[in-house]
Amino acid sequence: METSEIAALIEAGGIETVRIGTPDLEGVFRGKRVSARHFLDGCDGSGFAQCGVIFGWDIAEEVVGGRGLAVGSADDGFRDVLLRPDLATFRVVPWDPGSAAVVCDVDDEDGAPVAVSPRSVLRRVIERARRLGFEAKMAVELEFRIFREDQESLRAKDYGDLRPLNPGLNCYSISHASIDDDVVGGLRRQLDAYGIEVEGYNREHGEGMYEMNLRYADALEAADRGMLFKSAAKELLARAGAVPTFMAKYSDQLDGCSGHIHQSLWRDGRSAFRDAAASYGIGATMSAYIAGALDALPELLALFAPNVNSYKRYVSGSWAPTAPTWGIDNRTAALRAITAGEQAIRLEHRVPGADVNPYLGFAACLAGGLSGVERNLAPPPAVVGNVYAAGALPPLPRTLDAAIELLDRSAIARDWLGDAFIDHYVAMRRREVEKHRTAVSDWERRRYFEQV
Ligand code: ADP
Repeated sequence: METSEIAALIEAGGIETVRIGTPDLEGVFRGKRVSARHFLDGCDGSGFAQCGVIFGWDIAEEVVGGRGLAVGSADDGFRDVLLRPDLATFRVVPWDPGSAAVVCDVDDEDGAPVAVSPRSVLRRVIERARRLGFEAKMAVELEFRIFREDQESLRAKDYGDLRPLNPGLNCYSISHASIDDDVVGGLRRQLDAYGIEVEGYNREHGEGMYEMNLRYADALEAADRGMLFKSAAKELLARAGAVPTFMAKYSDQLDGCSGHIHQSLWRDGRSAFRDAAASYGIGATMSAYIAGALDALPELLALFAPNVNSYKRYVSGSWAPTAPTWGIDNRTAALRAITAGEQAIRLEHRVPGADVNPYLGFAACLAGGLSGVERNLAPPPAVVGNVYAAGALPPLPRTLDAAIELLDRSAIARDWLGDAFIDHYVAMRRREVEKHRTAVSDWERRRYFEQV
């Protein structure tokens, strides 16, 4: 869209405020609100100054610092980066009269893309896919738990003993979902009006648990939708007196929350995955893509499972994968090939949790898969039946610590996502591991307090 078209939308919609922002390393939508007039001024190419610390702090907004970070630390004087609105993402915020939102790319003050910005990382991978002749279409499918709490009650209760939106464990039914539909259906309707189509949603097993499937789109747009979805869900549920969590594993007594990624490659408007003459319609490109995704899975895991907590979701028999495997419509495998026809043939990556940063998760999916296409790899045989019962398969790294060391040494990650990004990400995750290593948990108090 041109600035003049945006100006017309602003005028027609009575827009006074524009939310401008970009994903940080965790996938959180960070930025600010600017007046509509100031926004239009910044669309002339000058962009909007934003302190680079959004790329230099951790999930708790603590500055990481002192680890040679190229952006967002005292070493660079916390200097600005420039937010450049991607006008194709401009949308009215239907629940906030007079407001619109736009997702931005991030440049440095000399106009070059900031290499550690997740949106830059994904763009770089998408452009390389294009050079190979492919357009990528993707979707993220998010599970999350909803509680009848607010910012104050969460803190007063120290995040324990929370009241779920609905109490039952075994409530995967239309009638149970109907009971919550004022809240969850309301969320869906607002998201739809915000340009984030929810194809379907359902109550999941476990208290307060829901899943929403976002409609697939071109990879960059689908990642924007994933980020905006989480941000909007937090905002909209607060209006209904509720709070969602996208933690991969909120409780060791309950299932984790997944963030499965669906993906397909296209060429000239047709699926590049499908070959009607091949077994299950899985053509040579899809085979090589599966092989690459499996081959690179251990070294890319830290991008699918970014937090210490993410690894607690990978429990044998839990619907979350524990080994690099693939299967035809097999939900016990890490990669589920869905071979349903010309449009819908795709791969579902079942490793990411709901805490995945969609930009980085998508970039990692494409890097792994396309590196297989470039190398013309052949996948191992598809697993049949229950993968968890299949015995000795090579396990995935079991901790963030182990996954980070593999990522640091990954030639594929460095080639596809860039050294500057990998160095930055690894430094930040090492800090996360260190924070956790010295934290004393409730579990430790319960286990050792009286006994040792
Ligand atoms: P579930 O795992 O919940 O059963 P489905 O197998 O029904 O999910 O997959 C639905 C998801 O797949 C939706 O997000 C949908 O938009 C996405 N999807 C459908 N076709 C494609 C495609 N060709 N490429 C990528 N994603 C797709």
